[in-house]
Amino acid sequence: MPINKKKPVTFRPFKAPRYSYDKLRICRRCGRYTVLGEERCGKCGHASLTAVEKQAAAIAGRKMHTRLLLVLLLTLGSVYFGQSLQQMALCAACGIAIAGLLFYAQRKVRQNENLYALNKLLGRSIDGIKEGLELDRQEAVSVLRENDVLAYEKLREISILLRGDRISRQRVALLHGFQLRKDMYLELEQLLLKDFEPLLAEYIGEIAKVQPELIKDRTLRYVKTYEVQILQMDRGAAILTAVAGAAVRLKRYVLLYSGMIGRYIQELPKDRFLRLSRMVSASPYEAWNGLDLKVAEVREAKYRYDPDF
Ligand SMILES: [Zn+2]
Repeated sequence: MPINKKKPVTFRPFKAPRYSYDKLRICRRCGRYTVLGEERCGKCGHASLTAVEKQAAAIAGRKMHTRLLLVLLLTLGSVYFGQSLQQMALCAACGIAIAGLLFYAQRKVRQNENLYALNKLLGRSIDGIKEGLELDRQEAVSVLRENDVLAYEKLREISILLRGDRISRQRVALLHGFQLRKDMYLELEQLLLKDFEPLLAEYIGEIAKVQPELIKDRTLRYVKTYEVQILQMDRGAAILTAVAGAAVRLKRYVLLYSGMIGRYIQELPKDRFLRLSRMVSASPYEAWNGLDLKVAEVREAKYRYDPDF
């Protein structure tokens, strides 16, 4: 698809959560898990979705109340069976003191108890969570025809917890229809697949142009692995040149991928080549693996009379 056929879109603001379970909610009625922002549960239709963190805190709270109640019951029992008034008073005093201490201690460890409960809840619901996320994914795919942006946003939420090639492939396919811009919240590393996928290669080429800072080690490794396949694509050489231009950002990448960068050095735009040329000149004793010679060649051939060099 040529660039001008792509659809200009705006995504809703998205902030990667601090913890991957931050957006995970559970239905208090039927126990269905979801990461989508719907008000009602997709399974039972009730508005009883609650954050897993809140649910875990409620479970922990109930457990603490039960313990406290048990102490109070034991106290009552001992008072009841007391032989004398003195004994009864002593039992009551002890019981109340223990309950007070327990109450105080529990309040102090409340945070830990909540975390422990959350851990346990997530641990024993792995299958339920997987099932919920799969339903979420199907729900996202079902709106794809009417609203591809909404479908993409849903998939983006789901992929925080649900990883894997299937969801990445769907996201890459949707992104293919959108015009990418500098100010968009875009991802790359999370979308990398195991196998070669032309749409992904095209996406990488576009990212290299609009948000080169997203091109990092894993992407460079992907491109290097499938360099031959990318070259066979229509605009494959342009993709590889754009990636090489993005890699020139950091000296570490230039050293690691000097061979690949060297193969596209002829087509690098002037600003990228200038950066590379300065980088190489600044550290003449680095192991450039022949890239320094190629830089000198291109400089001589293309920029001989350029005052910038
Ligand atoms: Zn439900």
